[in-house]
Amino acid sequence: MSNQYLSTRSKSKIIPEYSLTGDLLSFLRCGLQYRYHNKGSLPPSTPVQLWFGEFIHGVMEQAYIEWRDNDAKKRFDWEWKVDIRPIEMDIYQRLNAAGIRPSSKLFCHYDETETKKFGCADENHPHQRISSRRTELAINTWGKHLFPLIKRAEIKLKDIQPMPDYDEQKSRSRYFGITGIVDVISSVNIRSAPAGNLILHYLENFNLLEDLEDDEYEIIIDYKGMKRPAIDDDTWKHHEWQILTYSMLRSKQPDSKKIVAGIIFYLNELELSEENMDELKNDVIRQSTDKMPDKIDHDKIIRWRKGHHIPDLSSTFREIRSIRVIKIEEEQIENALHQFEETVKNIESSVFKEIQGQNIKEAWDPPENPKKSTCTVCDFKTICPHPSTEQYKPTVP
Ligand code: SF4
Ligand SMILES: [Zn+2]
Repeated sequence: MSNQYLSTRSKSKIIPEYSLTGDLLSFLRCGLQYRYHNKGSLPPSTPVQLWFGEFIHGVMEQAYIEWRDNDAKKRFDWEWKVDIRPIEMDIYQRLNAAGIRPSSKLFCHYDETETKKFGCADENHPHQRISSRRTELAINTWGKHLFPLIKRAEIKLKDIQPMPDYDEQKSRSRYFGITGIVDVISSVNIRSAPAGNLILHYLENFNLLEDLEDDEYEIIIDYKGMKRPAIDDDTWKHHEWQILTYSMLRSKQPDSKKIVAGIIFYLNELELSEENMDELKNDVIRQSTDKMPDKIDHDKIIRWRKGHHIPDLSSTFREIRSIRVIKIEEEQIENALHQFEETVKNIESSVFKEIQGQNIKEAWDPPENPKKSTCTVCDFKTICPHPSTEQYKPTVP
């Protein structure tokens, strides 16, 4: 690795640009995994998220565009093979070209022209594997209510901030960039939405719009390819910081209105994997989730054992768990920004250590107690000095 970052001449020109989800949240999950994903170059470079997160995001964005531009697509439910599969293949190919690939357990990427089996059970491609069951549920549960409310999709957010603890000798730049991408829904569209719109229902539940002075407002949207985190899981808090920071970035854009809330969709909740189910069971036993099941779902969850069929949980429960509304409060934004500034500081410090010649595993120390679910899907477990050994042993009655 060259020392170009340290030369004074280039210093003013390099402004490391951090994507909130691709860099900062990835680093918070595990610094070492984040570094390995960047392969040959020092971060931030091309932020790589796990395949499913990128995929579901891409599918939702593309589905929205088709809904917007094509009258025939205004009718729901969408049929998987006819309406959704072409979008999936499109996004699959885009990610594939960027070197991000799914396992065959997650997604069948064969079409009629393929005759090979590989990971699939037979040659009747396409198979609707778990990722595809989720896209269908996401579009038919949320898409139909959400798309009519969207004012603009995929708005690029960006801001420049002073580098925390800037040091003439050590820092590679006086500033750092912070970026993100959101969909925005507007009050205008919310008002004209028909009664019975599910999103509206959840916003009303939240008493968000009660004491609003401005007439016009916005709500920002993000999709996550994961289960709803437990409330004592750091990720729960990190997602709130992310939405707060997005709202700050969005509010700086001239065409924005007051941002009152953010909505995160935890799309795995619509179709849980075995790993997700295991975590949900643990959350329920520990009562560490804000959305607990009713009696019937509760029994199904508690009785479930690893290796057994994932139980059919009620659609209401799955729906409630897949949407999270986060209120935007000015006082909280400051704290969120501060937290991410600290994260940038830590990344920059690891970069510095690496430039100074420290071994990657030392410069990018993995967390003391990495989460089991993070390590399970990590490509670098075999070379990691301490992957999670945590077992979910329910201890609380
Ligand atoms: S195995 Fe776990 S601790 Fe190790 S790099 Fe991967 S995510 Fe990090
Ligand atoms: Zn297949």
